[in-house]
Formats: sequence, structure tokens, C-alpha cells
Amino acid sequence: MKKLTPMMEQYMEIKNQYNDTLLLFRLGDFYELFFDDALVASRELEITLTGRDCGLEERAPMCGVPYHSVNNYINKLIIKGYKVAICDQVEDAAEAKGIVKRDVVRVITPGTLIDTELLEEKKNNYLMSIYGKGKGVGITYVDISTGELLTTEIVKEKFKENLHDEICKVHPKEIIYYVEDPLLKDLITDCGEKLNLYINDYEDWHFDYEYATKQLKSHFNTISIEGLGFEYKHLGVQSTGALIDYLKSTQKRTLNHLKRIQVYTLKDTMILDLNTRRNLELTETIREKKKKGSLLWVLDKTMTSMGGRLLRRWIEEPLLDIESINNRLSIVEIFKEDLLLRKELKEYLKDIYDLERLSGKIAYGTVNPRDLIALKNSIACLPAIKDLLSNKESTFLQDILSKISNHEEVKHLIENAILDEPSINVKEGNIIKNGYNQDVDELRYASKEGKSWISSLETKERERTGIKSLKIGYNKIFGYYLEVTKSNLHMVPNDYIRKQTLANCERYITPELKEMESKVLGAEEKVITLEYQLFLEIRKEIEKEVPNIQNTAQSIAQLDALYSLAESAYENGYIKPLVNNDHKIIISNGRHPVVEKMINNNGFISNDTIIDREKHEISIITGPNMAGKSTYMRQVALIVLMAQIGSFIPAESATIGVVDRIFTRVGASDDLSQGQSTFMVEMSEMANILSNATMNSLLILDEIGRGTSTFDGLSIAWAVIEHISQALKCKTLFSTHYHELTELEGIIEGVKNYRIAVKEEEDNIVFLRKVIEGSADKSYGIQVAKLAGLPTAVIGRAQKILMDLEKNDLAKHDIVIKENPLQGNVNNQQLNFLDIDNEEIISQIKALNLMETTPIESLNILYRLQKKA
Ligand code: ADP
Repeated sequence: MKKLTPMMEQYMEIKNQYNDTLLLFRLGDFYELFFDDALVASRELEITLTGRDCGLEERAPMCGVPYHSVNNYINKLIIKGYKVAICDQVEDAAEAKGIVKRDVVRVITPGTLIDTELLEEKKNNYLMSIYGKGKGVGITYVDISTGELLTTEIVKEKFKENLHDEICKVHPKEIIYYVEDPLLKDLITDCGEKLNLYINDYEDWHFDYEYATKQLKSHFNTISIEGLGFEYKHLGVQSTGALIDYLKSTQKRTLNHLKRIQVYTLKDTMILDLNTRRNLELTETIREKKKKGSLLWVLDKTMTSMGGRLLRRWIEEPLLDIESINNRLSIVEIFKEDLLLRKELKEYLKDIYDLERLSGKIAYGTVNPRDLIALKNSIACLPAIKDLLSNKESTFLQDILSKISNHEEVKHLIENAILDEPSINVKEGNIIKNGYNQDVDELRYASKEGKSWISSLETKERERTGIKSLKIGYNKIFGYYLEVTKSNLHMVPNDYIRKQTLANCERYITPELKEMESKVLGAEEKVITLEYQLFLEIRKEIEKEVPNIQNTAQSIAQLDALYSLAESAYENGYIKPLVNNDHKIIISNGRHPVVEKMINNNGFISNDTIIDREKHEISIITGPNMAGKSTYMRQVALIVLMAQIGSFIPAESATIGVVDRIFTRVGASDDLSQGQSTFMVEMSEMANILSNATMNSLLILDEIGRGTSTFDGLSIAWAVIEHISQALKCKTLFSTHYHELTELEGIIEGVKNYRIAVKEEEDNIVFLRKVIEGSADKSYGIQVAKLAGLPTAVIGRAQKILMDLEKNDLAKHDIVIKENPLQGNVNNQQLNFLDIDNEEIISQIKALNLMETTPIESLNILYRLQKKA
């Protein structure tokens, strides 16, 4: 049996401990991968696969990446869903006996990225831990790049739905979990697939209560966990313990910036399910998944990354507590009304660096001298910000300001110690200012003196030897030398020692030159080492300040998010809503915050909304396609949501009774692409809404029941409205094409009809976009189809059929349905209308499976049929 070489043995030993990762093994200037890892990496990174003798008969497959660009490669692997372990030399090669010791220094996973160039500035990168036992779950999530650590526990009937919504809200990059219930496991895996997350099935024992408590005590450095705020949250302790354990095993260091944990409950914020988040396009658009076109796009005027992340969070988590909402509103008001203050604040905020991620870097020891200068410059803005806002009468604002320190000591330390433009690399010198450390000064002096002695040597030697062209030079291999051209060689004195011969010159050294050289180079080397050591000391000193820097960062993020709301309120002409608990939503001249911007503030028509429990809470909205029904309903939902994040709103005035949840059931275009039956999706979403809505919820229901036959759909829609009126009593906006539903006004309590006005001009319609009381008397489907460009022949034919129908002249259209009942009850009503006697066409129509046919396909079929008819 052949044996592995000692180095490969070392590799195998380490690799065996990190089997679920791709191991990057440092060899000289490269990180190498071997065996299967090399096969995977060369494929995924498109790098050449080579081989290396490993002692065995066959060479080990190998591929490698240069150490200085390793981050790019790691990023690619992480995006593709791999974990990467970095194995470095952990002892000085010069001191090593035998093979240099190597060990894994960090495991990088999608949820544990810290390198700022790999992260989106205004987006958190969360790792989530979930522990499920009995009828409850503990959830903990962390962003190790910023230091945010949050936990909650859900123990109530709806814990599964809540867990699902929480995963969708937090949208972590990675989950570690252990759950007893297989259904819960399915739920987590489904979420993982839907949101494209990295999921780790983590073993049970990591979540053990005793073990978790031990982890927490050691991490937070306390003798008991009582002070941490968990109260009776056992499951939360367990999910947090496992998370800390996972961080320890992957990050391999104490994470001093994760010393604060925020224990929250779901009662604090509005729960929004995934559909609602998507439908309302809160942070990205449904189709293109882009920020542009989302609510965040309109509201985000933040100047710092921290503020950007916080604003995103606020939008994802509207508040329920009136006092907290009003606290935010009152500051937005102060900022909005004072243009000068806003301008000044903007200038200061602009200069503030990402203090949260900087704290992370300090804790990781990856902070570089330039980061410290950025920290110093950021700190320099703080007193001015406090001054600017200190006379404003708002307890909440003063409370935010009180958490900002001036960090004087840190500022002075950096000011005195670090050069204004230091190098980025900590091992290249050029970090420490003159006057900070005597040894550095002396070494620098020695090196400077030595260098000037060497340069004066040139003149001295020219005089002594009489060689006019004699030159002093330097290269990395030979150091300093004296260079004499071939023609002058006869004048070279005896004490010159020849070092190198070139084509037309010779290079020499002298003992005294070498002595000075070793002083210069020695001093340079020493100063670099010393600067590095001093930098480490300074970093350590600053690390002590991390908790305070984190407090400051939090306050700055808040101020920035509030500034952003004020700025967007000012730019877009928003007003302050009156937010209370009155169960009313009354909006005068409301606008859709995004649509009005997308049409460049050009002619957006504002509309009123009244949802008042004492009068009516269900609005049935009719109007032709394209009239603006969806826009109007989403506008109401967005206005309510904006009010509850503490934002001003696009309206003339508004009273918003806080809602506990917003549900939306709108369009199904994205579901179709996933190949699910539209109707099935619609009904399951409806089922979810009906079982979760309370009397304080807001429901946006867009054409419920349209996915099935007219009578089925109408009956379902009718029953839903009845159920909402009698059992749920929630605020509801319901758009429909079924004019029959408008008859419910006066029959079912709380129902009121609205329509979106259109004007008829000859054969065309003009959309007026105005919501008015009453019901639409016509659908104008044919006119809208005409606008959409349906062939004139089809439009003409449709008009004729419609006229006949309106005359109620159905007899002649009655295709013999009795003899040929269509399968199920798919649209036979509508087929009745077709005046067709062509056998072939009829049989083609009958063969259709409408449940499987997309609208576009239907249109194509119709087009072909028309050609035949
Ligand atoms: P519906 O749901 O009735 O089919 P939409 O709400 O989708 O209609 O509106 C269609 C288009 O009309 C929107 O994309 C938007 O451009 C425009 N629109 C809607 N409401 C308004 C309004 N109030 N003012 C101006 N344009 C509007």
C-alpha cells in the first residue's frame, strides 16, 4: 500500500472534520482544493483542473485560486449554495518543525458572510435558527456583519403559519433547524425552496436546553440567563443556544459585537404573509424583483447603509402600537417642516460610514487602517448632529440622541495614531503617524538618515575613484550596490567587492555600504512590524468601544430612516395621517405612492376612501378592466401600511384606525407561471385569509371567483362576502366583474357599492379613474379589448353577439348543450353565447380543458377559430 505524503495526510485529517464544506487549503500564494472538492470547484468556478502527487499511485485532482483574489471565488461558491472552509497556516513557516501547522480559521456559509464587498449595502444578511417542539417554535436570527441578534418564541395555535410568515419576512440567507414535527420540517424546506435559502438540518443535541443555556452563559458572559430577557421562552433559549454554537464552530472566534439580544414578540408588529408582501410590492416588484417600482424605492432617501437597512425593516414590519407610530410621525413632521434642518442633517449623515458593519469588522479583526479613518470621520459628525437636533421638543427624538456618544477617546486615539491616508494593508507599514510612538519615530529617522548617507556616498565615491559615471542603485535581490560601466573598470578600487556582471557594467558592494544597508533595511522591516503591532493594539482598544459604537449606529440608523421618510414626504407632497384605534379608515384624495411616481406625477387621479364600522366596512368595487380597481385597492392598503410604519402618506387628509393585518388576494399571473391551477391557488389563499383575518384586519380581494364558471364564481364570491359581513367583520375592499354582487348592498349588512367612472365616447371609453358611489351598469369589456388591439373582426363579431344577448335573444345562440354537456360546469354559460353552427369548431371548443388553458392560449385559440368561422 502506498502512503499519502505527510502534507496530504495533514490535508485529509482536516478535510475529514469539514466534510460538508469545500476546503480551501493554503499552499504558498494559493488556496488549493483537492480530490472531489477540486472537481466541484473547477466546474463551478471554471478554473483549470490539474493534479498533484499525493503519495498514492494516481495524482490527486487539484485546482487553486490566488490568495489575494480568494474572496471573489468564495462569493461565487456561496451564491451557488456551497459552504467553504478556509484552511490557513497557523504558525510561522520559519519556526515550523516539519510541516507547517494548518487549521481551518473560518467556515463561510451563505448566512455568515461578513466581507462588505460580498454584501448588499442596504440589505441585511441573516442566519436563522429554528427549534420546534410540541406546539411551538423558537426562532433566532442574526446578521453577523452588523451585530443584530433577535429572538422570539411562538407558542399558539397558529404557530406554523406564523413561522412561515416570519421566515418570509426575515428572508434569511441560511437556516439551521431541528423540528420534531415532520409537517413543520416540510414547511421549512418548502420555504427554503421558495425563497432559495440554504438549509442545514442541524442535530437535535445542539438545541438541548441545558447545552443551550451553557452556550448563552458563556457567550454573554453571565452566570445566569435571567437578565437576557427571555422570560419563560425556553424554545427561544434553545434556538439561540444552537445559533451561538453554530457561529462558534464556523467562525472560530468570540464575537464581541453580538453581545446584545433583542427578544421580541409577534404582537409588536403587523404580520404580513408572503402573498401580501409580494402583491403590495413592498421592497421589490412582483415581476422583475427590482427595487425600482416598490414602496421602498419611493420612500428610501436614506444617506447611510444602516438607515437603508432599518427603513427596509420598518416597511417589512409595520407597527401596531399607536404611541410608537406617533413617535415616528412626530419626528418625521419636525424634519419635514424644516428644510434647512433637513439639508444640514443630510450633509452630516452623508459622511457617516456603516458603523454597524464596521463594528462587525472590528470584532472580526478585519478592520483596516482606512476603516479607522472612516470611523474617525464619522465620529466627527456626531456632535454636530446632536447640536442640530437638541432643541427639538420631542422626547422620542431626545431619547434617540441620548444614545449617541461622541466617542472622544476613540477619535483622539485615531487622530493621534493613524495617518490621514494610511495604507489598506496592515502589513505594509505606512499606518502610524509621526509623534505617536518613539520607537517608530527613531526607526524612521534611522532609515531616513541611512538613506541620505547612502545617497551622499555616490558623490563621495565619485571623488575618491574619479569615476564620474559611478552610480548607486538598489534591487530586491542584491540590495544597494555601486555600478561602474565597463569602460571605467580599470579605476575600480581594491576594496570594491564584485556582486553582479551585466552587459556593459559591473555592480559592486563595499563593507561599509552593506553595513548601512542593513541598518536601513532593518529599520524599515522593524518599523513595519512595529506599526502592525501598534495597529493591533489600537484595534483592541477600539474594540472595547464596540457596544457604544453599536448604540450610536442604531440611533443614526433611526435618524436616517426618519430623515428619509421626511424627505420623501416633502418631495411627494405627503401629509401626516391621524392614527388611532377607531376602526375607521377615512382617506380624502388618496393616491397610490408608486403608480403616481411611475406616471411621473402626471395626471394621477386621487380618490377618497371611507371604511367605517358604523356605516359600512365592505366596499364592492365594479368597473371595467383597466379602470383602476387594483390600483385603488392597493393604494388603500399601502396608505394604511405607510401610516403604520410612521410615514406620511399620499393624501389630502386621513384618519387611519390601526389594522392588525393586511391580507391581499389579487391577480394570479405569477402563479400561472408555476403551473398551478389558478383557481386552486386563489381558493387556498382565500381559505388562509378567512381563517386568519380578525375584525381588525384589512382585506383586499380582487375578483374572487373569476377562475371558475360564472355561477360557481359568483356563488363563492357571494358567500365570502356574507361570511365577512357576519363572522369576520373586517374592513374589506372587494372588486368584481359580477354585477350581481352589487345587489348585496342593502341586503347584507355593511356592504356598499362603488364604481370607477368611465365616459363613453361613441364606441370608445375614456377612463376617468374616479371612484364614485354606486355600481357600474356595463362592463365595457369589448371596448377594453379594442383598446388592447384585438382584431377588428373579432371586436365587430363580439359587439353583435353582445347586442343579441342584450336583447335577450338567446334562443338562436343555443348550441345544443343538452346533447353535449361539457365536462364539469366549465363556462357552458358563456359558450351558449356563441353563434356557431360549424361542427368542427364546436367539437374543438368542447375538447378544450379550460382549467389548463392560459389566457394567452385562449386568445390564440379564439383567433384560430375566428379564422375558420
Ligand atoms: P383594473 O384593476 O381595474 O383592471 P388597474 O388598477 O390595473 O385597473 O389600472 C390600470 C392602469 O390604469 C394602471 O396601470 C395605471 O397606469 C392606471 N391608473 C389606475 N388608477 C389610476 C389613477 N387613479 N390615476 C391615473 N392612472 C391610474
